[in-house]
Amino acid sequence: MKIVVVGGVAAGASVAARARRLDEDAEIVVLERGHHVSFANCGLPYHVGEVITDRSRLLLQTPDSLREMLDIDVRTGQEVVAIDRDARTVRVREVDGGREYDEPYDALALCPGADPVRPPLAGIDDPRVHVLRRIGDMDRIKAVVDEACAHRKADGRAPLRAVVVGAGYIGLELAENLHHRGARVHVVELAGQILPPLDHEIAVPVEQHLRSRGIDVRLSTAAAAFEPTPEALRVELQDSTVLEADLVVLAVGVRPSVELARGAGLELGPHGGVLVDTHMGTSDPHIWAAGDAVETPHTVLGDLRLAPLAGPANRQGRVAADNMCGRDSEYRSTQGTSVVKVFDMVAGGTGANERQLVAAGVAYRAVHVHPSGHAGYYPGTATMHLKVLFDPESGRLLGAQACGFDGIDKRLDVLATALRLGATVFDLEELELAYAPPFGAAKDPVNMAGFVAANTIRGDLRLWYAQDYPQAVEGARLLDVRTAEEFDLWHVPGAQNVPLGELRAACETWDRDQPVRLYCAVGFRSYLAYRALVQRGFTDVATLSGGSQTFRAWHDVEPAEPSTVPTTPYGEAAEVHAAVVAHRGSGVTVELDCAGLACPGPLMKLASTVKGLAPGDEVRVHVSDPGFANDGPAWAARNGHALLAMDPEGPGYVARFRKGGAAAPAPVATAAPAQAGPGKNSFVVFSGDLDKVLAAFIIANGALAMGEEVSMFFTFWGLNTLRRSDPPQRDKPLMDAMFGRMMPQGADQLTLSQMNMFGAGTAMIKKVMKDNAVPSLPELVASAQAGGARLIACTMTMDLLGIASSDLIDGVELGGVATFLGEAAQSGTTLFI
Ligand code: FAD
Repeated sequence: MKIVVVGGVAAGASVAARARRLDEDAEIVVLERGHHVSFANCGLPYHVGEVITDRSRLLLQTPDSLREMLDIDVRTGQEVVAIDRDARTVRVREVDGGREYDEPYDALALCPGADPVRPPLAGIDDPRVHVLRRIGDMDRIKAVVDEACAHRKADGRAPLRAVVVGAGYIGLELAENLHHRGARVHVVELAGQILPPLDHEIAVPVEQHLRSRGIDVRLSTAAAAFEPTPEALRVELQDSTVLEADLVVLAVGVRPSVELARGAGLELGPHGGVLVDTHMGTSDPHIWAAGDAVETPHTVLGDLRLAPLAGPANRQGRVAADNMCGRDSEYRSTQGTSVVKVFDMVAGGTGANERQLVAAGVAYRAVHVHPSGHAGYYPGTATMHLKVLFDPESGRLLGAQACGFDGIDKRLDVLATALRLGATVFDLEELELAYAPPFGAAKDPVNMAGFVAANTIRGDLRLWYAQDYPQAVEGARLLDVRTAEEFDLWHVPGAQNVPLGELRAACETWDRDQPVRLYCAVGFRSYLAYRALVQRGFTDVATLSGGSQTFRAWHDVEPAEPSTVPTTPYGEAAEVHAAVVAHRGSGVTVELDCAGLACPGPLMKLASTVKGLAPGDEVRVHVSDPGFANDGPAWAARNGHALLAMDPEGPGYVARFRKGGAAAPAPVATAAPAQAGPGKNSFVVFSGDLDKVLAAFIIANGALAMGEEVSMFFTFWGLNTLRRSDPPQRDKPLMDAMFGRMMPQGADQLTLSQMNMFGAGTAMIKKVMKDNAVPSLPELVASAQAGGARLIACTMTMDLLGIASSDLIDGVELGGVATFLGEAAQSGTTLFI
């Protein structure tokens, strides 16, 4: 038998390899129009990002290795242009040279994959607009990124500006990898959310994470046109925004490659893919097809769909080969299991999503749970968002989605397996899953979802849903059963706060026939409240699925207006004076580890720690709950504390707060009364020499740590310290542009006043500082700013040297001589550096 395979990557290579294992006598020819076979498409974004550094690792097999190992005749650079079904031959054209020949077959496998969509937009053929599908695409994109990186190193050129069009799996992987290489990345997505295959509330935490890592995300808009200019490719969006780009990558989906099948008169499916039966046979008994080019039944919905995924392509190829070689194996359906890493987060799903169920008119119910990836007391975990969709009567699983930081892939795979085997939510309750603190919980998140879902079917729990707000609460008593402190930070508009512990007493006088809609943070406390109310005779009670965690993904509600119910404030009344928080720190910093604690744990621990501190003391808190990005600032503002910094750290953040209230007298100042004056210091930073500016900032930070105030006036060469290393592009007069290029651009580029030795001395001193854990100059600048130092740029110098305020780092004030003299007049010490 002679088997000819068109396409030599995922599905095609699977057909050929499996066919050889089943039939040692078959003649097997693989015709691939590209120059590589069996390469790892899925790894392409990671080589662009240099996470996978060795390009050859993506080439899983070569024509030679396949010939040697499996005796397969693999021909690259050979495009099949037509099929003669009567003669059972394919017409082949050599890509280099154009020679054509016919290749006969007994069995033909069509595995041509899919082609990336390139919408017909003005300017789309500009060479800066790319797609990512094959090795060559990757090489071209990587060359652009490599060149930008090389220039940045050599001549300090601004970072590459990249626009990724499409926020699906490939678009986001690419965005992360481009960012990883130092590019400034915009992601543009037509849908109102990223990751369109997932439901909104699962996509939102990932979107927030993406933004927190510095990616500019633009939703509900699309690229409308590309206009080349000498400096950049202008990407015009449908919402009239214009983004300037050096690189554009389109990741807006793929279309099945069916020209051959259509030309040969094979039947196509409703979505334009090749129609196949469960044996992967086409409408011609001698032709099989597999991979991205075919349509297969959806496991849950039953109708035919395209599913461009590597796992299905490989398994379909195997089934096609089985049947070509006389076996009777079947590929029954595709459930679309998929997963993606987005910086530190992971997200994915399996089965049908909620939108698909609605569109198909399938009855379903959803539950949302937010457990930790593993035991909260073991380091390295964070809250996950898990949604399970199921038949409201039988409990059969219809779909599941999750996002979070640890253990997401494991839960998705368990749920995908359960769904494939026809399991119900009652089965999920019973699953016995691997557990030790670093890996899970004694009640695994999958068990938890099973418990909640099964409770709804048994009638032990009734849910209401965030997307149905506000209709779902109309005419109802909307009850928030969290603590008063949580309520005071944020609550659903219209809610009444009755903490769970007070509910039993409070409800005694309520009308038992008025509907009650409950919620808490994740759904557990409100479940307890639900049980308490129902057993007291309340007739219409429901609790919010997923609690406020899920609610906040749907509704962008501002932090709470001041509470009308009595609350126990975190801070004492005397502390609630934002004005006095301002500049002074006491020099005391407490480290606080709240990693692994879910909301409201971090806030409770932070509040009790701050209570024991003196005004002006600081707390550096490590939190793995991503929701802290909203809650932390709100808590600080409400209680009169200052949030000094909030930086991403693993799944969450590291944040620095300074306790409000009048600062305690600085210990050193009282111990050293010789330090006279009003406790204020002024600096004129005239020099642009690294060593002198370092000295200025070391003294300034010391003064701040002693509770003193600091003003620093930057003039002439000293002003270069405050320049941004990557200022936004702007048109400059020739002289300004020349000055700009000749002078150091930011604190990191200053050089030593002596022993610079063409930069070698500067590099050495930086290394010595690093080895001795001395903060770098940029770090000292940041810490002085965080400590409340006023950094003032001399406006006259700015005019002389052509420096605009946008060229300066954030937080710098502009001022003239009068500003400086005013500061100096109030200072005990004035230094000219
Ligand atoms: P392909 O792998 O595209 O192979 C088809 C081959 O046929 C091509 O090499 C093409 O040159 C050749 N061909 C086409 N027409 C002809 C012709 N007329 N003559 C000769 N040769 C022809 N899936 C996942 O499940 N997980 C992931 O993480 C993931 N990441 C991805 C990342 C990227 C960047 C890309 C591009 C895809 C990713 N995918 C992922 C999708 C997955 O790679 C595809 O679903 C899978 O490769 C499809 O296999 P296929 O054999 O059908 O098509």
